[in-house]
Amino acid sequence: MPALVKAESARGMDLKQVPIPEIGKTDVLIRVQKTGICGTDVHIFQWDAWAAGRVKPPLVVGHEFVGVVERVGEAVEEFKPGDIVSGEGHIGCGHCYFCRTGQGHICRTMKIIGVDRNGCFAHYISMPQVNVWRVKPGIPHEVAAIFDPYGNAMHTVMAQPVNGRTVAVIGAGAIGLMACAIARAAGALQVLVVEPQEHKRKLALETGGGFAFDPREEGWEQSFRGHTPDEIGADVVLEMSGSAAGIHTAFKMVRPGGDVALLGIPPTAVGLNLAEEIIFKAVTVRGINGRLMFQTWYQCERFLLDHKLDLRPLITHQCSYRDYLDAFDLLEKGQAVKIVLNWEE
Ligand SMILES: [Zn+2]
Ligand SMILES: [Zn+2]
Repeated sequence: MPALVKAESARGMDLKQVPIPEIGKTDVLIRVQKTGICGTDVHIFQWDAWAAGRVKPPLVVGHEFVGVVERVGEAVEEFKPGDIVSGEGHIGCGHCYFCRTGQGHICRTMKIIGVDRNGCFAHYISMPQVNVWRVKPGIPHEVAAIFDPYGNAMHTVMAQPVNGRTVAVIGAGAIGLMACAIARAAGALQVLVVEPQEHKRKLALETGGGFAFDPREEGWEQSFRGHTPDEIGADVVLEMSGSAAGIHTAFKMVRPGGDVALLGIPPTAVGLNLAEEIIFKAVTVRGINGRLMFQTWYQCERFLLDHKLDLRPLITHQCSYRDYLDAFDLLEKGQAVKIVLNWEE
């Protein structure tokens, strides 16, 4: 089958023929229809320090997908051929302290598809049945393909109360934009967005953001505070950029006593002035990793079906997997938000 493979420890990715994966008794073989390209995939493509330290080529890349069940192992009862499914790409060991106490998303020996084991940028992927997620009718397939990052956004927004509060989102990439839509639907009073790129600021205003600020513009902090009660800052700040500047902005714009949730991953250590940025301000800080299995997935489903959340505007491009080089080029240049690759011939 064709697959996008990280073949060597170097920049790039190759479209290669690889064997269709085998399935065990409790596995599901899924014929991939659509896949989302994530920032993580771009890091693997570029072969940055993180990727070089984590990924062991050769590896089929990709972790965001929707597909059809092709075949199931003999012990699988929950799924049958023809079912439309996505999947939780974090595969826990199932028996450690974390997996057994409902915290499988931080299992210490977790394997991530497309990072630690073969992923979904291929015609087929095999997954354990416990990780397979049935896609309900009424959910567009291109949206089902991006449940993984949508779940990251949901997990981040739901990590603290947002209803009746002023929420700020730092970084309006795909996950930041999804967080705007979720926070708004979850009853945030106001969603304030901080994003240097103009096309993403525009998109933020279409997906639930009330005001969007360019952090390179003189005086933006004052006008940001002007949209918060008594100009004290945001009750909740969701940091999605992963840049040192974005992280400092998060602590600067949160009000004293507020909440900061950190999802964006800085490539290197970030120095904080703990006394000024966190302690004296009495800020509550949360690190967010992955999605809660499977509470986050149920929330994602219900927000689409009951709140009519529409994530399609942030899928800026869809193309054939054969055009993957163009897709990675657009993402590296920051000209696309979310790109979905079609795998059906
Ligand atoms: Zn992803
Ligand atoms: Zn575990």
